[in-house]
Amino acid sequence: MTDARRLAAVASRALAAAGHGDMVWGHVSVRDPDGRGVWIKAPGWGLEEVRDDRVQLVSFDAEVLAGDGGPHKECHIHLEILRRQPELTSVVHTHARGSVSFAALAVPLLPLSHDGALFAGEDVPRFAGTGGLISTPALGRDLAAALGDAPAALMPHHGLVAAGRTVAAAVMHAVLLDRACTAQLTAMAAGPVRSWSGPAEARAKAAECWPESQLVAGFDYLVRRAGTRD
Ligand SMILES: [Zn+2]
Repeated sequence: MTDARRLAAVASRALAAAGHGDMVWGHVSVRDPDGRGVWIKAPGWGLEEVRDDRVQLVSFDAEVLAGDGGPHKECHIHLEILRRQPELTSVVHTHARGSVSFAALAVPLLPLSHDGALFAGEDVPRFAGTGGLISTPALGRDLAAALGDAPAALMPHHGLVAAGRTVAAAVMHAVLLDRACTAQLTAMAAGPVRSWSGPAEARAKAAECWPESQLVAGFDYLVRRAGTRD
């Protein structure tokens, strides 16, 4: 059993604990330390159902090297982002409802909360290529370009994508983006939004609130909520 395989299972359940489940859709990948591809849950399982034996090793050519069944149609999200950015370890793609609803408003994401400060006062990137499935390497490359070196991006009409140098960072980037979207949806539903962090405060908060230690603390909390590590 590899650490990467186990981490892919643990991270899947952590995302479920954070409310990112969408029946059997959405996934998180962990780069194989030997360069063979990515560890990612097998199709047909919900995030909260993922155990070590429900994780596949998928090559950068989208072939299943270990585990059961075919690859996810959207494995190209993970393969192309990790191919483009060798320093990254993990990618998350979910259909988190707050993110989908917020993206439909087509307004900038504001730093209303600690969560929203993740982007240091900048708007979140958005992938405009398609609202459909990222089912080809070309679409995966376009999505990777839209994400750039940002921690996460919205995929309007679809969901979100997030990435990190660690699994904890990738998961937390997804969680923070969706929480920021949900906070702004709530505020906008109640009335005009009048107050949020200015550029200097937002930049300071990004560094103060979200160093790696706090991303790990948040991830570990989600893992505890999800249940035992196995
Ligand atoms: Zn999707």
